[in-house]
Amino acid sequence: MGNGSHRPELRAILREKQGGRCCYCDVRMRISFKSKMRPDSETLEHLDRRADRGGNERGNIALACYRCNTGRGDADWLTYKTIRRGEHYERW
Ligand SMILES: [Zn+2]
Repeated sequence: MGNGSHRPELRAILREKQGGRCCYCDVRMRISFKSKMRPDSETLEHLDRRADRGGNERGNIALACYRCNTGRGDADWLTYKTIRRGEHYERW
């Protein structure tokens, strides 16, 4: 499935590990083309953005839905996860 990623293997590993669910809100993600992203589309997320300069080591990368990825801003990933999960169960 061409979704513009150069890391299909890493995505496959993460997808398996996370059961196809978002690392923040636990929604089941779909695979989308970059031009057709939806709130539940799968994206690669850097958990600790301070580490971005240091490279893309595996432990720092997870799959997140597009909605969570774009809504995170500067929040710490753990804090954000807590927020997203609370919201998920109330509104989804
Ligand atoms: Zn999510």
